[in-house]
Amino acid sequence: MIVVPSRATVDQYNQLKQQIDEAVGRINGKYNTLRWTPIHYFYRALPFHTLAAVYYMADVALVTPFRDGMNLIAKEYIASKTDQTGVLILSEMAGAAKELIEAVQVNPDDIHDIVRALHKALTMPQQEQIARNAAMQQTLKRYNVTRWSEVFMTRLQEAHQATDKIKRKRFSEEILAEIVNAYNESDKRLFLLDYDGTLVDFQDDPQKVSPDEYLVNLLRKLSDQPENNVVVISGRDKDTLERWLGHLNIGIVAEHGVWSREPGDEWVQADFIDQEWKAELKPILEFFVDRTPGSFIEVKDFSLVWHYRKADQGLAEVRKHELIDTLAQYTSSMRLQILEGNKVIEVKNAGINKGHASVRWIEKVGKGCFALAAGDDFTDEDIFKALAPYPNIFTLKVGTNLTAAKYNLSSNRDVLRTLHVLSEQQRVTSNYQSA
Ligand SMILES: [Mg+2]
Repeated sequence: MIVVPSRATVDQYNQLKQQIDEAVGRINGKYNTLRWTPIHYFYRALPFHTLAAVYYMADVALVTPFRDGMNLIAKEYIASKTDQTGVLILSEMAGAAKELIEAVQVNPDDIHDIVRALHKALTMPQQEQIARNAAMQQTLKRYNVTRWSEVFMTRLQEAHQATDKIKRKRFSEEILAEIVNAYNESDKRLFLLDYDGTLVDFQDDPQKVSPDEYLVNLLRKLSDQPENNVVVISGRDKDTLERWLGHLNIGIVAEHGVWSREPGDEWVQADFIDQEWKAELKPILEFFVDRTPGSFIEVKDFSLVWHYRKADQGLAEVRKHELIDTLAQYTSSMRLQILEGNKVIEVKNAGINKGHASVRWIEKVGKGCFALAAGDDFTDEDIFKALAPYPNIFTLKVGTNLTAAKYNLSSNRDVLRTLHVLSEQQRVTSNYQSA
């Protein structure tokens, strides 16, 4: 059974069709005997009972879409196998691949993988075929249309409730006014600002988002006020942050807290860092890069990062879960943690996170200070959680995901606008300072 790749254009499709027609003609011409035709080629729809009979007869079904949602061919093949023999080879990109885990799964982009799978299928002992198909038939029976619709309705309800929750936390003019008030009433203030996705928008190339003049001026204006402590707290490496922001009078935290630097000071490294795990895990990430075109590895001082923003998103989603599963086996024994960021998976030493770095800053500026923290991804949740017990805190999450932050902002422009409004406030010129 051949399934035409769904991303083919009409021309490619016609060309492929012609190639298949010719190949079938060539093979049948060469190997046909009076009693046997090697390839039965049906380029038309078959009535369902005929189709079921063909499924039943087929020793192997090869279903290799690059992407699809619900693959009925794979399911129908398994359901038709009343004697439970036969082998299903299924693309790992098929929606059904997550349910039919006993199928021989292949990467549809890798022709050698498909050849290996065909060989495995043709030499598979009957006992194993029966065991695999019996398990898949059980799955299909259990996950019938009633069950499917129940799950769907429950998920829909959950999504609705989640949206409701986010709506209640949505950033508004009233909240901005509240922040401005708290800001004006405090003479000790702390800003903890994530960089990517929070102060700047995302780009395909992570090196291309250096701060523009507007952002530099905004940070300068905020940090010029002696009451303010501005800290950029990022997952990025320290050299990049130094190059972009080092000239400003702000604190910088790099690699989620591995490195930090007070305004105008030297970089200080967090203690206790073991690095040997990097050499051990890098080949695993490289293996995933080989199998996920467009993804790449970034080696930071104390972490390894797999970037998949430029990869095909369908494939990357599949690979991401595989990678997390694979890494989880190592990280539990190696005191490492896996962070899932925005189109990145990062592995780093446990115990270092933005939350710890935030707490150090807030203790330094003083409990009860006005603090505003903004971030957009999973790693920023550590900040939001760590700050929650402190008073006078405003935590802002860019994006509409569920979050530990107090408020959800629809885009990073809301962060910039809030910072702009605060930077325009008059200085606290209270008399007691001179008294
Ligand atoms: Mg970010």
